[in-house]
Amino acid sequence: MSGILKTIQIEELETLYADSGDVGRISGTLTMGTDLQMEDVNCPVCEASRGEPLHLEGCFQMVQCPSCQFVFLNPRPTNESLLSFYQHYLPEEKSSIESWDKMMKSVFHRAATLLGQYRKNGRLLDVGTGFGFFLAEMKNRGWDVLGVEISKKAIDYARDVLGLSVHPGPAERVGFPDNYFDAVTGFYLIEHLPHPMAFLRECHRILKPGGLLLLRYPHTTPIKSLLHFFGIRNRLYDLPAHLSDFSPKMIQQCLEKIGFEKCQHLIGGYTRPGDPGKRTASVLFGSLSEALFRLSLKKFLLPGVSKTVMAFKGMTT
Ligand SMILES: [Zn+2]
Repeated sequence: MSGILKTIQIEELETLYADSGDVGRISGTLTMGTDLQMEDVNCPVCEASRGEPLHLEGCFQMVQCPSCQFVFLNPRPTNESLLSFYQHYLPEEKSSIESWDKMMKSVFHRAATLLGQYRKNGRLLDVGTGFGFFLAEMKNRGWDVLGVEISKKAIDYARDVLGLSVHPGPAERVGFPDNYFDAVTGFYLIEHLPHPMAFLRECHRILKPGGLLLLRYPHTTPIKSLLHFFGIRNRLYDLPAHLSDFSPKMIQQCLEKIGFEKCQHLIGGYTRPGDPGKRTASVLFGSLSEALFRLSLKKFLLPGVSKTVMAFKGMTT
């Protein structure tokens, strides 16, 4: 690493996005005048230096590691900048929070049903739990639930409105005991983490033997490359919020390297965004990918749509 390279002001960022003519969005509410300090990083998976330029979005660059092929943002915001950025990332108005709930409902419902196939109840940790809607669903199903979240406003909502127990993150700093949880979940989380391998190691440590990890993540690079081929500008990577883009193959390699077993990839439902255009696209591509997955006897995962992966901690580790 070579320290801080550049400071980007949010005004500059918004101008760049406004010029980019887009299919996509910035998820967060960017606070005018906020600085993002950027730093050059090595590959978060294999530590190889830098990476080859792959795609640009505004002033941000996704690169591909020449050694392990991992796709990541470089340079990327420093940890301090990210922490500040996430205080404004989730929506704050009541109506927007309710839309968020509606958007994620089918994904959460599907994940809850999947978990129910392995255990009827147990101790569950949801990392990056946001407002706590998934935890609330699992609590209703009889699970003993805990959350981790870095947005203070989201923690307040989960605690005060939903009555949930949520720790300030990141998860690695909470200090959960070894072999503690029956299941750990993370929805649209791993692509936001500066140290995904450290997170996966922590999940492995705190899961009981035989415990289940379920992660939901976007896989954007194939669709990004397709749009680039047709010259369609977009910001589908959602930079600088997303720091990496996992493929199913890459996520399985990482999980197995850490000691997880029996990886299973699934489509696992699709989101229902409030915007009618985005909702139609999500439902269409989501249904298509589910159909292809079933027709191929659970072998074909349509590139470019979100995926769910499940993996287990071995009984002897
Ligand atoms: Zn690498």
